[in-house]
Parts: sequence; C-alpha cells; structure tokens
Amino acid sequence: QSVTTDMETLTREVKKFATDKKLEIETLKVREEYRREFLGNVSHELKTPLFTVQGYLSTLIDGGMKDKTIRKKYLERAEKGVERLIYIVQDLDMMAKLENGELNTEFAKFDMVETVQNVFDMLEMEASKKDIMLLFDRKYNKPVYVFGDQEKIEQVLMNLIMNSIKYGKEKGSTEVAIEDFVSNKVIVRVTDNGEGIEKQNIPRLFERFFRVDKSGSRKEGGSGLGLSIVKHIIEAHNEKIYVESEFGKGSEFSFTLGKFKG
Ligand code: ADP
Repeated sequence: QSVTTDMETLTREVKKFATDKKLEIETLKVREEYRREFLGNVSHELKTPLFTVQGYLSTLIDGGMKDKTIRKKYLERAEKGVERLIYIVQDLDMMAKLENGELNTEFAKFDMVETVQNVFDMLEMEASKKDIMLLFDRKYNKPVYVFGDQEKIEQVLMNLIMNSIKYGKEKGSTEVAIEDFVSNKVIVRVTDNGEGIEKQNIPRLFERFFRVDKSGSRKEGGSGLGLSIVKHIIEAHNEKIYVESEFGKGSEFSFTLGKFKG
C-alpha cells in the first residue's frame, strides 16, 4: 500500500518537475528570440543613418567639395544623419534604463498646465518649421495638480507632441487638452490633424522599433522607440494610454493621470 503511494507521489513529482523545466525552457527560448530580434532591430536602425552619413561624406571627398551648393547640401544631410543616430542612442539609453528599473519614478505633486507649457516652449521652433500651430486652451489659466513624475510625464508629452509635428501636415495644428476623467483622474489629450494611422497598424504602434513607413528614405528621423517609452512611463504610473486615429485625417493620443489629493 505505502509503496504504491510513494510511487504515485514520486511519479507526480517527476511529472511536475518535467513540466516546470519545460516551461522554464520555453521562457528562455522566448527571451532568447526576443534578444536576437532586438539586436537585429538595433543594428538595422543604426545602419541606415550610418550608411547615409558615409555616403554623403564619400561623395564630398570624391570631388563634391568643389561645388559650394552641393557641399552645403551634403554636409547638412550628413548632419541630419548624425542627428538621427543621436536620437536613436538617446532612446535606447532611456529604454534600457526604464527596463532595468534604473529610472525610478519619483511621485510628487506637480502642475500639468505648467508641464504642457514647458513642452510647448521646447517644441515651438520645431513646430514653426512646418508652420504647425501648438494650441492649448486658455481656460487652463490656473494650475491642474496631478500626482506623478513630472520629468517623465514631460518626456511623454514631448514624444507625443513631437510625433504630432513629425507626422502632421504643413500649416496643421496640434491641440493639447486636460480634462476631468473619472472622479480622481484627469485625461491629457494630444490631437493632431496630420497623416493619421491605418487601422491595421494601430495595435502595433507601441511595439519597440515599430514604424509605419519602414523605408530608409522616409524623411522623418526617429527610432521607433518613442511610443514604447511613452507606454512604459504611463504604465509605471499605473495609468492608461489610448489612441484613436483616422487615416488621412489625424490622430489623438491620450493618457490618464491621478489628480493630486491635497
Ligand atoms: P518614431 O516616431 O521614432 O518612428 P514612435 O514609436 O514614436 O517612433 O512612433 C511609431 C510610429 O507610429 C511612427 O513611425 C509613425 O508611423 C506612427 N505615429 C506615431 N505618432 C503618430 C501621429 N501623431 N500621427 C501619425 N502617425 C504616428
């Protein structure tokens, strides 16, 4: 009797051990695949601007320096490429820090209205290059206190508004609004009337390195990491991010934040 019970227990334990190991191996396999894909993506993203810069510099060395207009044009393009590389590396750095938990979210009371204004000030120049108007309803002449990490929320707004400029049309506009959401939350909306996003691409927007237009020739530099960083930061606040978009018409990205209960 007791021998059979022991045998049964043993068999059960062996089976459990095997299942656990199998799961562990599966997890490791997924991680390994993820790591490989990540490395592939990083090198691909870096290669494109590097080859661009190299191309322009070689042309300049091989005689392109003689013509003043070509010289200026090519140097500017090379500079754009380097700028893009810097963006990618900065985004990678941010992503790595977020994932390693090195960027602890420091919660405090801050004014959302002031934060929007700060970001507008930083992006005004960028917007004016495309004659894009940055709109913020004047009803926000008094503070809206929320609870969160101001620096990181500033980064979120920065990425969202920068995208609305990059994918916005000339003479278009970007509007930011802060509205009451459920009783103890606000929702911050960033709305543009730019190129919009096709329905099938919406679920993939927040994936690392996802970009709608993958061609190396696209004019808007970026790493495809901006929205994954945004999502990370919002989730670290235990809040939600939403996107609504109509292709050809425009997009709206919005996120929630807890009100400061003072
Ligand atoms: P990046 O802008 O560096 O490519 P993001 O992660 O910020 O990366 O955005 C991913 C993709 O989502 C962009 O490449 C673009 O195709 C699309 N996208 C993001 N914001 C907008 C927007 N406001 N309007 C249209 N498309 C957008």
